[in-house]
Amino acid sequence: MIDNATVLIVDDMHSNRQILGSSLKSLYNLVYASNGTDALKILSTDSLPDLILLDIEMPDMDGFEVMEKLKLDNKTNDIPVIFVTGHDDIKNEERALLNGAVDYITKPISPIIVKARVKTHLTIKYQRDQLLHRASHDQLTQVYNRHHLVEEGKKFLSKAIRHNESFCVAILDIDFFKSINDTYGHLIGDEVLKSLATLLKQNIRAEDVVARYGGEEFVIVFDKCKIEDGQLKADILRMLIARLNPSDVKITASLGITCVKPELHNEFDDILKEADEALYKAKETGRNKVIVYK
Ligand code: GH3
Ligand code: MG
Ligand code: MG
Ligand code: MG
Repeated sequence: MIDNATVLIVDDMHSNRQILGSSLKSLYNLVYASNGTDALKILSTDSLPDLILLDIEMPDMDGFEVMEKLKLDNKTNDIPVIFVTGHDDIKNEERALLNGAVDYITKPISPIIVKARVKTHLTIKYQRDQLLHRASHDQLTQVYNRHHLVEEGKKFLSKAIRHNESFCVAILDIDFFKSINDTYGHLIGDEVLKSLATLLKQNIRAEDVVARYGGEEFVIVFDKCKIEDGQLKADILRMLIARLNPSDVKITASLGITCVKPELHNEFDDILKEADEALYKAKETGRNKVIVYK
């Protein structure tokens, strides 16, 4: 929500930081920088602001240079920037907007205008983030959806080919899930899916990906991983699932896993097909097991 938003105020003059700060301090968390270098230092950490108020005229590095640098970095290039400047000058305004600023405020600073513009752009950012999140996540379980998995999968594959690395892809399917729904009801079935998704998210590395592939099927991509490690990781997940007891329901899952070899694979779809074939064998030969594609 925008109430928890953090705004970074960058201005070399203490009095400007103070007036901007006092306009916003009751509404947002504020972080200050008095020069471009310090601003970029803050922007290189993991706690990124939701919006930046950026002075143009600063010694050493001006606001344009700061913005140019943050536009080059994927982590910071979509943070809205509002320029704040003493120049009531159309050329600077044009340049700011052309370089990606969302807005432009001129000094002397009016607290009412600052508040209104910041609120507008934080709201737009929040709504855009929500849309992006919905487009890439499964609504029920909040893990990635199938569309996002396929997009990420293609990236994993081209990275693996470029660096000649292997990674593993597993498809996981809950055993006899239909009878869980039939016995406990669809709502408990949903709770089971949510708990399972949380368990998967909590037990993979940050560089791995978990996605809901379909009804009670999930895909896990184990980055930079050989088949022996992938098989072990998949089997650990299988054991954790058997012990999970979500909503007091005993569940098991079957997994099919394949290892991606950059010299053999060029379509992510083919990799999913291999994992699916292995999953089919796991189902056929008794369930609650991991089968490696051969
Ligand atoms: P198997 O061990 O062979 O995988 O058997 P299964 O019963 O798990 O497989 P089947 O494909 O017959 O049934 C899958 C069930 O998953 C059927 C469907 O109603 C249920 N399902 C799919 N999506 C959802 C969902 O979002 N919520 C709930 N509660 N159930 C779902
Ligand atoms: Mg200045
Ligand atoms: Mg299924
Ligand atoms: Mg199933």
